[in-house]
Amino acid sequence: MGPEQATPTPTERRPHWLVMNNYRLRAVAFLLVFIGLAADLWASATSSLTWTLMVLQFLVYPHLLFWRARGAQDQQQTEFQHLFLDSFLIGIWIAALGFPIWPSFTLALASSLNMTITRGMRALGAAVLVLGAGIGLGVALTGFHLRPDSGWFTTLVMSIGIAGYVIAIGHAAYVRNGQVRATRETLRHGEQTLHAANRSLEEKLVEIEALQAQLKVQALKDPLTGLFNRRYLDTIVPHELARCTRESLPLCLMMIDIDHFKLVNDTHGHQGGDAVLQALAALLSDQIRASDVACRFGGEEFLLLLPNMAPGVAMERAEQWRARFAALATPSEQGTIQATLSIGLAFFPDDGDSLSELTRCADVALYRAKAEGRNRVVRCRTNLQMPRKAEPDLIFSEKNQ
Ligand code: GH3
Ligand code: MG
Ligand code: MG
Repeated sequence: MGPEQATPTPTERRPHWLVMNNYRLRAVAFLLVFIGLAADLWASATSSLTWTLMVLQFLVYPHLLFWRARGAQDQQQTEFQHLFLDSFLIGIWIAALGFPIWPSFTLALASSLNMTITRGMRALGAAVLVLGAGIGLGVALTGFHLRPDSGWFTTLVMSIGIAGYVIAIGHAAYVRNGQVRATRETLRHGEQTLHAANRSLEEKLVEIEALQAQLKVQALKDPLTGLFNRRYLDTIVPHELARCTRESLPLCLMMIDIDHFKLVNDTHGHQGGDAVLQALAALLSDQIRASDVACRFGGEEFLLLLPNMAPGVAMERAEQWRARFAALATPSEQGTIQATLSIGLAFFPDDGDSLSELTRCADVALYRAKAEGRNRVVRCRTNLQMPRKAEPDLIFSEKNQ
């Protein structure tokens, strides 16, 4: 640790404001009392011991106390002890000097005020008792004698001392108030800054939550078609199957595959193929009910989850969509594109009671639709196939010209 980081010794520490305040007040008050007393005692035959004690008490003592208090571990507590010592010594001096009214009054008042400022009225009672004890000791040491009057100069100096003392206390209170006000202001400012930081944090949190929700949706959607993806299907199917079981409802799983899609890509380019995928997605989104779920299952494979749809109705709906898609002309740079669909159907609970069973079954039906010539709707496990209206077996058409 470098010397600049060393812990400051007690004397290097800043004195507590109370220590500093009492030091000033004590030093000034005792100096004035010294001047007043000296003026009074000058004319009379005063022993050199009394003068020495007076110098020590009124001129040296305040500085010694300050030096001791600022070096103490607990400056406030030490200063508190000093106030009692003040009272005790003042008591001795009052008795020893023969109870001179003005100096006694000034000293007693100064020590009482100091005590009240430091520890309140309760401590003042204790200080008065200590003062009494000091007077008792003073009387015991020097005998009881009365010399209450002071000369005009002493009275003047003491009056100035008392006035100055009270004004000094007022000033100290004013300075202290200013510090308290400034601290309060700083605190209020800090609170406002904290509030602003909190508000911006809350706004950021809302933003993050919205972004997270957006990300969650994006993670479940196919970016090309806007339909749900396979991951969403995995999460939704168990719930849908449980609901249909609970409510004894049928459920249709429809596997849709675009016929000869590779050829579409080869002829019209990848962009043309994408446009067809989007056109089919739009058609399906438009046709299904709110409770149905449309997913892009793979490249050009789509899967519809249709709860509460009986087999007969489902076959009819699939046939309608097949025909609508076949009639759809999707514009592309190389001309309009027409394509057809093969559709395989599986039903819950007849063909399976899990996503894997139902998709396997729908896949088998789809495979059969392909094998039987494409552009048709086939139901799983039965030979049921929707009769198709006579229509040209169009795969796609070249540019209309
Ligand atoms: P079938 O009638 O037997 O289904 O033949 P098909 O050509 O449709 O099937 P195949 O599986 O041979 O080809 C599917 C093609 O779909 C191959 C692949 O390049 C294309 N494909 C997959 N994903 C996309 C896509 O996102 N955009 C485009 N444009 N093409 C895709
Ligand atoms: Mg396919
Ligand atoms: Mg295909």
